[in-house]
Amino acid sequence: MDFKLTDEQELIVDSYREYMESENWETYFHECDEKHEYPLRWARGLCELGFDQIMLPESHGGLGLEQPAVTLMAVYEILGKYGAPTYVLYQLPGFETIIREGTEEQIEAVLSTLGTGEQIWNSACTEPGAGSDVGALATNYKRENGKIYLNGTKTFITSSLGVKYLVIMARNADDESMFTEFFLDMSKPGVKLSPLTKLGLRMDSCCEVYLDNVELEESDIFGKEGNGFARGERWLVGACDYGTAISAFEDAMAHANTRIAFGKPISRQQLNQLKIAEMCIKLTNMKNMLYEAAWNADNNGGAFDPAAAAMCKYYCANASFEVVDDAMQIMAGVAVASEHRINRIWRDLRVDRVSGGTDEMMILATSKGASIKYKQ
Ligand SMILES: Cc1cc2nc3c(=O)[nH]c(=O)nc-3n(C[C@H](O)[C@H](O)[C@H](O)COP(=O)(O)OP(=O)(O)OC[C@H]3O[C@@H](n4cnc5c(N)ncnc54)[C@H](O)[C@@H]3O)c2cc1C
Repeated sequence: MDFKLTDEQELIVDSYREYMESENWETYFHECDEKHEYPLRWARGLCELGFDQIMLPESHGGLGLEQPAVTLMAVYEILGKYGAPTYVLYQLPGFETIIREGTEEQIEAVLSTLGTGEQIWNSACTEPGAGSDVGALATNYKRENGKIYLNGTKTFITSSLGVKYLVIMARNADDESMFTEFFLDMSKPGVKLSPLTKLGLRMDSCCEVYLDNVELEESDIFGKEGNGFARGERWLVGACDYGTAISAFEDAMAHANTRIAFGKPISRQQLNQLKIAEMCIKLTNMKNMLYEAAWNADNNGGAFDPAAAAMCKYYCANASFEVVDDAMQIMAGVAVASEHRINRIWRDLRVDRVSGGTDEMMILATSKGASIKYKQ
């Protein structure tokens, strides 16, 4: 395995570095976080650089990169280093899922926003009575007079205030063992939203979504009827968390080298040295794990191993939060009683141990992968 970036990848990373240095983005992120607004101006600039084309095949306007996942990892790393809210970007590399599963019309609808940075779609599975236990979901669909009718309630649905489409998982009312996804146009009659407040990730919306007899066509089915499918989002969460932790670590190191206590920089106080060493170890582990999963995906036709993706999410959500928490401890008062970005980052990272699948579900998926591998 060789994670060394090619000259082309270095040039790509440099373009994002320049973009992040082109203005004081933190002021803009702070404003968006306060107002609970999606940072569209920043996301648009990223897409002008080709961010949403990294994972796309050339046939659909992609960059035709040899190693799209490794390249995306390197871009997440540089954006995270500048404290960027990469969590708002999950749907943009995910355009590749639409191409794999969508009909021509669905692909066209989503790709019409390519290059704009606009929020366009997300998937909705969770319900008030079905979180980790997805199979308990009650939202159902029923065929009547050549139409399909969707009824139920989804909860904690990210980006739902901003997107034009949601991919909704529902149960067949006439065959309860059959689960199907639908590509729902959010402007359809019968769709209602109720916004929720949350600890972090405030630059993205999160709502309860009510579906009251929403009328759909057969052509609104997403993928094959009765077919669930795996997505690479778990790895993306890990990539986002690792990148973000780098910014907190660098902030803490700059502070630790200049803040004097008891006659020397606090970076030379033993208890801080332990924190610094552990932060370095966690950052290195995250980096290696994520690049390895990306490298394997690139060498396996683009598919992420589900157990490796779950391991990345579980480890990185925890390790990055610990790094940021330790960075906060080292910065002490200036971190917790100020508008420093670490304050925002700490809130954001905590959510990732729950959203996108809890720690506990990631543990089960990781161990299941290992059991299968060693089955006689
Ligand atoms: C900010 C945010 C954004 C989200 N965005 C989306 C989205 O866009 N789309 C979407 O579909 N969902 C989304 N979710 C939902 C998220 O995926 C669920 O919250 C998550 O799967 C957990 O479900 P739950 O909250 O109902 O917890 P529960 O499933 O009720 O679990 C409660 C606790 O019990 C543990 N637990 C449950 N079963 C077991 C078990 N068998 N073994 C061990 N421990 C167990 C869980 O790990 C957890 O700690 C989002 C959630 C949040 C907080």
